[in-house]
Amino acid sequence: MGAETKIDTKDEPWISDVRARDFIVAVSDMETAAKVCEGLYTHCTNCGEKFPVWPPKLLMGHAVAEHAKEVTTQQLTGWAALCGDEFTQVQAHYFGILLVTTVAVRRRCRDLGLIKFIEPPQEETPKRIVVPN
Ligand SMILES: [Zn+2]
Repeated sequence: MGAETKIDTKDEPWISDVRARDFIVAVSDMETAAKVCEGLYTHCTNCGEKFPVWPPKLLMGHAVAEHAKEVTTQQLTGWAALCGDEFTQVQAHYFGILLVTTVAVRRRCRDLGLIKFIEPPQEETPKRIVVPN
């Protein structure tokens, strides 16, 4: 997956390490996902043709039309499910994969203010030990 990559020395550890911090992302529609993925590109794994990362229907529509004979029925079904215009559970899952695998997507979510951190549970205060007199 290609992106205009600049070294950002201000990156927080969670930008490149999915284990560093838990968060949720406020992306629940195609427009917001498109804003996050604007300017990011990927390539067809079968022929190398370049496509915008979002919406997935651009790459998946190409794959269904051009490469259906090269994949299993299950893969084809998965590609077809990503050809819709609605932000369904399938599109949400696809976006989630981008979020887990792509630093540029994580940075863009941060920069657009779409990240809400889930604070780790506070440690319980140790119980006071009462020493009898
Ligand atoms: Zn192709």
